[in-house]
Amino acid sequence: MQGRIVKVSGPLVIAEGMQDAKMYDVVRVSDKKLIGEIIELRGDKASIQVYEETAGIGPGEPVVTTGYPLSVELAPGLIESIFDGIQRPLNVIRDQVGDRIARGIDVPALDHDKKWDFVPTVNEGDFVTTGDIIGTVQETSIIEHRIMIPQGVEGTIEWIHKGEATIVDPIAKVKKKSGEAVDVCMLQRTPVRIGRRYKEKLPPNVPMLTGQRVIDTFFPVAKGGVAAVPGPFGSGKTVVQHQLAKWADADLIVYVGCGERGNEMTDVLMEFPQLKDPKSGEPLMKRTVLIANTSDMPVAAREASIYTGITIAEYFRDMGYKVAIMADSTSRWAEALREMSGRLEEMPGEEGYPAYLSSRLAEFYERAGRVMCLGQENREGAISAIGAVSPPGGDLSEPVTQATLRIVKVFWGLDAQLAYRRHFPAINWLVSYSLYVDRLGEWMEEHVAGDWDDMRIEAMSILQTESELEEIVRLVGVDALSLKDRLTLETARSIREDYLHQNAFHDVDTYTSMKKQYKMLKLILEFHHAANRTLEAGAEFSEIINLPVRERIGRAKYIPEDRIAEIDAIMDEMNEQMEALVPEGGIRYA
Ligand code: ADP
Repeated sequence: MQGRIVKVSGPLVIAEGMQDAKMYDVVRVSDKKLIGEIIELRGDKASIQVYEETAGIGPGEPVVTTGYPLSVELAPGLIESIFDGIQRPLNVIRDQVGDRIARGIDVPALDHDKKWDFVPTVNEGDFVTTGDIIGTVQETSIIEHRIMIPQGVEGTIEWIHKGEATIVDPIAKVKKKSGEAVDVCMLQRTPVRIGRRYKEKLPPNVPMLTGQRVIDTFFPVAKGGVAAVPGPFGSGKTVVQHQLAKWADADLIVYVGCGERGNEMTDVLMEFPQLKDPKSGEPLMKRTVLIANTSDMPVAAREASIYTGITIAEYFRDMGYKVAIMADSTSRWAEALREMSGRLEEMPGEEGYPAYLSSRLAEFYERAGRVMCLGQENREGAISAIGAVSPPGGDLSEPVTQATLRIVKVFWGLDAQLAYRRHFPAINWLVSYSLYVDRLGEWMEEHVAGDWDDMRIEAMSILQTESELEEIVRLVGVDALSLKDRLTLETARSIREDYLHQNAFHDVDTYTSMKKQYKMLKLILEFHHAANRTLEAGAEFSEIINLPVRERIGRAKYIPEDRIAEIDAIMDEMNEQMEALVPEGGIRYA
């Protein structure tokens, strides 16, 4: 079936004679065969979002529908790849045709000729159903790719392959109940705009630990959770994302980059491949899929990119992996949505964004979650989604940030002021929040310590009191405060500097286990309690705050994970020094 172009407006093409096409069908536009997707159908007229440069294309040229929705190829070969928003392999294309993608180029997303070593995990005669793993391929030194029975296939294994195969070679024959036998290969094609199926969603009550103290302690994200991080320039957004990619408790990273200026994305393309995976010592790319949109790529591809990314994430989730997807930045993505909407001449909403901005964002974030995967085996997988927003001028009241905040459950408020004072990570503890914190309490109690939640609440309340006291100090000076209040200020400073401040570039400080976080926080809070008691017993304020042990408390963060018992020794030393301050005849405490 063939239609004709009637109008071209940048990335939007209107074609007539399209009555047989379906919404969201992928079409080939003009003789140049540009890739497009139908985003609106009225009568025989289709509005087509074109993923390639449309310059030089004009009315009268043909439009052919493929009959298929926008889909991705899923099979070994995904990891370490760099794709554009519609899964064209940028690294392969670059090798073939140079820096700029030639229009209408037909390169499969994955290498169809490469041979992989397929290791079967089922036997002939076994019953299999959608989602069952029938074999594995060691895709990279870190990730084992698990080959699953595709949608709609169920029956007994009549034949299973062992050894080398390409992703399009048959690797199994499944005999259905009807008697019909179907060939299964490693390659699956999945539409990107609807989520892949799973058995059931599980509650977000397990944390995705990151080793970053301010996050794990105060604003934790659940496995399968959704978080947003705004990134004013220079506030440390890139470092936070790199830290998460390296240290978060996730098996795989899908990073979707939408850059404004061309060089922003080039940075990511250059930097990411250089990151090292601290857990394996291998390049982080060995468990990463990168999706990149530079500013010189058409906006439409940017719109599709987050769906392409999350579909790939879902595929690995279905294998039973914990995946973290990062979208940076969703503001750039929303701008693409706005541009397409403008060209469609839709009624603009706030600041020109379409009214469906929120629902589109929700469609992305809703696909995160911890789930029970399809298949006979009980297998759990998870996608945690972290979206960066880049509000112009840091103004959080703008529509994209507001729409995001209505959806996500965690907000890490990066603060330019804190970054300026070189407090990193510059996550403002007074404005950030995590709605998971209560649900994760039980896990923390069980896996960290019974009094974890009480400690977290006390530490946060000390920080909040600090901000109130600072107001008083600003007005009337520090002398107006009681000694108790001044101790609170001292403790708050210690929480900020000795605990929350974490140097991403220090070998030890870059990551802190929950066990160590607990001991460090306990030490600071115990100092606070002991100091208060000692003060009440009549000791001098200045002597308390100048105790030699305080320096050791400040350096506890640099104690390596395998020697954290040393923190207990600091605690003992602290108690001894405190006790020595109690004057003769003063009240002693146990
Ligand atoms: P952005 O991406 O928001 O523009 P970056 O992530 O590049 O900002 O951070 C800017 C600079 O801040 C970094 O080069 C680094 O020197 C410093 N920085 C940010 N986060 C940390 C951190 N956790 N530890 C140490 N330095 C940091």
